[in-house]
Amino acid sequence: MLKAVCFDMDGVLYDSMPHHAEAWAKASEDFGLGMTRHDVFMQEGRTGFSTIDIFTRKYWGRPTTHEEVDRMYARKCEYFNALPEAEPMPGARSLLEQIKADGLQIVLVTGSAQHSLLERLNRDYPNIFRSDLMVTGFDVTYGKPDPEPYLMAMHKAAVSPDETMVVENAPLGVRSAVAAGAYTVACNTGPLPDHVLSDEGAALVLPSLQALSDRWKELRID
Ligand code: CA
Repeated sequence: MLKAVCFDMDGVLYDSMPHHAEAWAKASEDFGLGMTRHDVFMQEGRTGFSTIDIFTRKYWGRPTTHEEVDRMYARKCEYFNALPEAEPMPGARSLLEQIKADGLQIVLVTGSAQHSLLERLNRDYPNIFRSDLMVTGFDVTYGKPDPEPYLMAMHKAAVSPDETMVVENAPLGVRSAVAAGAYTVACNTGPLPDHVLSDEGAALVLPSLQALSDRWKELRID
């Protein structure tokens, strides 16, 4: 029986991934690291440290350092913050409102670490999110694709994996949710082919949040 639905943020609640991809690609170019936009979508969900470490190993043949991560991540954030604020994802609000009306718990699970997250969520999605039902970059040690963030979400909501649905958009986010034992719905809001999401174990791959919102009542009954 479904009791909680966990939502990833970037690429699910907000149409922010094109901006993240652009900012990462520009920052990595500044540092002579060949990270492409495609790479960013494939690695989406990792912490900043883990993302940079993968590419220093790939292109420079060595692990990164905390000093490098601080500089590159700061540069990436500069580029990201210079872009317009990302829009809420079409269909997300109607989906969240249906889930709330069904009496289910709604948990945010993101690798993002910003102190203003809850204010922004409350502005765009009023009366949906609660500070005690959020897992952010401040809470986790490993982050996605480790199951840690979704296991932590289930613990906060006091639910078991078979009572939990996860809504994700990224291959490594799906891997994390599936490893945590949740029923995982992937909304493919980015440029990757659907199979990268089903290959990671998504139970259902839909083209958008709007599609999930439109099918919510039918899925809820199943
Ligand atoms: Ca995401």
